[in-house]
Amino acid sequence: MSDVALDSDNLIRVMPEALANKIAAGEVVQRPASALKELIENAVDAGADSVEIILKDAGSELIQVVDSGSGMSRDDAQACFRRHATSKIASIKDLERIRTLGFRGEALASIASVAQVELRTKRSTDSAGFCVRIDGGEVVGSEPCATRDGTSISVRNLFYNVPARRNFLKTAATELRHCVETFQFLALSNPSIAFVLHHDDLELYRLPAESGGGFMEMLHGRIQTLFDDDYVERTVAVEEQTSYLTVRGYVGEPEMHKRSRGEQFLFVNGRYVRNRSLDHAIFSSYRNLLPEGTYPFFALFLTLDPSRVDVNVHPTKAEIKFDDDRGIYNFLKSIVRKGLGSVMQTPQIDHSDGHWSATEMPRPFRFDGSSFGNPPSTHNDTRPFDADAPGTISERLFGGSPPPGHRTGGLGRDTATVDDTLLWQLHDKYILTQIRSGLMILDQNAAHERILYERSLQNIQTGLGLSQQLLFPQTVEFGQADLALLQELMRDLRALGFDLELFGGMSVVVRGVPADIQSGDERTVLEDVLTQFKTNRDRVKVGSRENLARSVARRSAIRPGTRLSPKEMRSLIDQLFACEMPYACPHGRSTIVKIPIEELDKRFSR
Ligand code: ADP
Ligand code: MG
Repeated sequence: MSDVALDSDNLIRVMPEALANKIAAGEVVQRPASALKELIENAVDAGADSVEIILKDAGSELIQVVDSGSGMSRDDAQACFRRHATSKIASIKDLERIRTLGFRGEALASIASVAQVELRTKRSTDSAGFCVRIDGGEVVGSEPCATRDGTSISVRNLFYNVPARRNFLKTAATELRHCVETFQFLALSNPSIAFVLHHDDLELYRLPAESGGGFMEMLHGRIQTLFDDDYVERTVAVEEQTSYLTVRGYVGEPEMHKRSRGEQFLFVNGRYVRNRSLDHAIFSSYRNLLPEGTYPFFALFLTLDPSRVDVNVHPTKAEIKFDDDRGIYNFLKSIVRKGLGSVMQTPQIDHSDGHWSATEMPRPFRFDGSSFGNPPSTHNDTRPFDADAPGTISERLFGGSPPPGHRTGGLGRDTATVDDTLLWQLHDKYILTQIRSGLMILDQNAAHERILYERSLQNIQTGLGLSQQLLFPQTVEFGQADLALLQELMRDLRALGFDLELFGGMSVVVRGVPADIQSGDERTVLEDVLTQFKTNRDRVKVGSRENLARSVARRSAIRPGTRLSPKEMRSLIDQLFACEMPYACPHGRSTIVKIPIEELDKRFSR
């Protein structure tokens, strides 16, 4: 037996609270910057409109945060240092709709157990404030005091009673860098709050509250005062909203790259997060644009249904889990890539109207399809399909009326004018076409799924789905459970274009199906959509309408192996680029891959 084995006299005991806090502090407070984060977050949660921070010796001697927030009552001032003391959640239900940065009620208890803390706080309605002093978790004083409205907390000599940790701190320069980074991300995500940061005798930052304008303007202003001017001149706005995910913020132009990491700010539902996979998604949007070993600047805010994100996987809440990692990865990657695309215009189309013609501008050598027996195009209004070029979408193809879901005036929307002679279908599943920057490849199935998905979602919402009547109405038998589901979805199914009626006990008469369903394929569509709906419901947490739209799209999209005519290919591309989010199918698979001409040149050693 080893001598560390428990002997039989050992009893299980409940730890004293001070000891439990000290152990928990190991998770919540790793270094001065983590204490700073908790204190600023509390100030933000308390509704402060200004926050002043004073650091001494990179925070290891003093971290003081003074806010103009709500302040605390005398009772709360004493209670707030107790473990699991929080005013922010009261029940399990609250966990699902957290609006505050804190909610675990652990931070102050943990910090106070490993430092000497003084809290001074006052609510505007109280005539006097209250002061509490705690050393290493023991209350050493509490009395009324004179203080301003709001709260001031000073944390001195962090880890003074945990020598192992104190010795483990890095150099002052490193610890200060972590504090500044923490300050930066909290300042970025709260532009309406004024911040000041002092270190020793220097004022490092003074950031006025940003007001007026919308989110993007305020963030822009904050980036300008927080960083150098060229951050503003050389960043690209990214703004993309889908029913699933909103991404807003700024990314640095590739030329603005940094030798080191540290200016990558990613927020999910307002909370700064570090997530390797999302970082990777953003980095990979810069692929081939950044020199090896350099990093882009970005400040991006993702917003999605809170029930799809679990922030509670780690005590500092900087790590998160998503219910659909891959989907978010692909969305983010394509959205950033698109934002970058808008500034990566090569000067090939420089006519003021964005058009070029064969007569005015002789084309350089191009692979024009003539070797496939198609005549080379000579007419004037033709140019290679170009997903990166500015211009009008599809007017010629749709006789001036845009397809459903087409938005006009979108920011930097990709546009397309397609030349049939520049389209090839590869193995009956990929569509190849020339774009200005090289070669574009579409996955016909994924692309069609995206189109049908957006159209279905829109039809469900507007109730305007077109129906094609069946020549022979069909009677379908359902089990009890499916019938209940069907009844639940009836309104939305009808909106999609299903013409249904309950008939007798367990059967349904199908008189019409959505107009998008390929002919010859109508018979099993209702059952198939229901089956797909049930599979999705078990796998991903999405709302019932979104699920239904996904199911219809998955069920009805053209399959790999379907031969398409040039006209069909053209229409597919055009409809794809009229989509809100053309770059990924609803499940997150890419719809498009672009291969830059440089890549081909490299492979041919040109
Ligand atoms: P949490 O933020 O997870 O609730 P904390 O330990 O950080 O837990 O804070 C405990 C409680 O103390 C908070 O819920 C809040 O009620 C109160 N509190 C802490 N800091 C402040 C502050 N600066 N202003 C007002 N109240 C505060
Ligand atoms: Mg907190």
